[in-house]
Amino acid sequence: MNKFIFVSGGVCSSLGKGVAASSLGALLEARGLNVRMVKCDPYINVDAGTMSPYQHGEVYVTDDGAETDLDLGNYARFTRSPLSRANSVTTGQVYDAVIRKEREGRFLGRCVQVIPHITDEIKSRILAVAREDADTDVVIVEIGGTVGDIESIPFLEAARQLIHELGKGNAISVHLTLIPEVAGGELKTKPTQHSVKAMQEMGIQPDMLICRAPVMLDEATRRKIALFTNVEAGAVFTSYNVDTTIYEIPLIFHDQKLDQVVLKKMGVESRHADLEPWRAMMEKFRARQGKTRIGIVGKYMELHDAYKSVYEALFHAGLECGVEVELIKIDSSRLEEKGDPEKILGAVHGILVPGGFGQRGINGMVKASAWARDNKIPYFGICLGMQVMMIDWGRNMLGWEDADSGEFNPDTKHPVVSLLEDQVDIKNYGGTMRLGQWEARAEEDSLILAAYGERFIWERHRHRYEFSNRYRQEMAGSGLRIGALTPDGSLVECVEWPDHPWGLGVQFHPEFKSRPTAASPLFRDFIAAAKNTMQGNP
Ligand code: GLN
Repeated sequence: MNKFIFVSGGVCSSLGKGVAASSLGALLEARGLNVRMVKCDPYINVDAGTMSPYQHGEVYVTDDGAETDLDLGNYARFTRSPLSRANSVTTGQVYDAVIRKEREGRFLGRCVQVIPHITDEIKSRILAVAREDADTDVVIVEIGGTVGDIESIPFLEAARQLIHELGKGNAISVHLTLIPEVAGGELKTKPTQHSVKAMQEMGIQPDMLICRAPVMLDEATRRKIALFTNVEAGAVFTSYNVDTTIYEIPLIFHDQKLDQVVLKKMGVESRHADLEPWRAMMEKFRARQGKTRIGIVGKYMELHDAYKSVYEALFHAGLECGVEVELIKIDSSRLEEKGDPEKILGAVHGILVPGGFGQRGINGMVKASAWARDNKIPYFGICLGMQVMMIDWGRNMLGWEDADSGEFNPDTKHPVVSLLEDQVDIKNYGGTMRLGQWEARAEEDSLILAAYGERFIWERHRHRYEFSNRYRQEMAGSGLRIGALTPDGSLVECVEWPDHPWGLGVQFHPEFKSRPTAASPLFRDFIAAAKNTMQGNP
């Protein structure tokens, strides 16, 4: 069985299309179907790797090292869809591929055009995901952007062609819109009517609507929307604001029979929905007691999406440890120079320094590391956060005042963090870091071994710099524990503080594999340690 669901959005962006598509995926999986998720991004960047986190939120990394849109992170948290380079399609990739073919003369003298050449390339990428695995039942394709955007036109056109070619029931359109509330509390359906008209102008009649609204839409409103949009009244759903967690959305959709209607539209016989794992997760959510305050010391603090997977992984760990994790977002530059760490960090139960690039705010992060180390506050360093531990150890434990990373001070006499050897000659920025899944081997008696419970660990990477082996002996000799190495022993993957409740840094990004139903082991142990601090210091 190969069915396709195209999820598009209208009225405005940031309606939670990614979460809606992922929730739909989760529900179909609960009904025993094999789901694959694909994101189409209309931007011209080949991938998200070169985009600033301020522009587009975090860069999500797949096992095979693709630097993708953060929606793939939603797919990974809600569904079991394997995710790789193939699951993220951008305008940049599509044009790049078509232009290469044109240069190779593969179009045999024809004029190369958006339709059919660009749309053919898009379609072949979507169909390739469906064919990758013979067991795939449904491919959910989320089309980024908003209907009416110039950039999304080729993707919507490709969807229109596929819906037409595959035939009714084999490919359906789910459209997400906004029902705004105007003064007086009245809910307005007009933008939805316009949005569906825009879809119809593209030649696509949505089969189902998901309306983002402050509250559940009543029957009369749903009927009115149905009347104006040619969508059946039973196929108009509400994604209302939840004050619990986004992970309740699959259950909320299920209560409205969304999955049942999707199956019917696709001509798939109804089957039992096993939502037990999601219900059990919500039980854990409601059973949490106490607030563990975690200080995130980073530099992209204003935009929640910039550290999306880290925040989600903290939430998952809280579920597992039975506590609510309160995020205290601290711009590291506040800790620089005169910033008093006691004042800024004094009330937190744990400190996390996430990944990042560039010099700004680094000294504030080093101060946070030193403060957590001295005050025995649990500390978790991820990628840059581990490199910061090295700089702190070099400066404050070994007395090398200029200890630094080659990234921030190429002239330092103590580059305790240095460029990876195979990065030295690389000039291009896009897709050239040490990326994707690599194996690490945990050392005996380490925190990391205790967390994973196994010596061989596969996690995803995204970095150019690394613990400098030149200093390995001095670092280890002065007490800094090496928690994990690559299996050949050539790269340090984890460091740990001695005589400390829980101080650990990893060169990889465990946040990418954390799920609400299975927290990342390192996040779980970090929150467990912070919970201990909380209980001693509520
Ligand atoms: N900037 C550092 C490096 O390139 C850290 C990267 C990261 O935190 N993802 O190695």
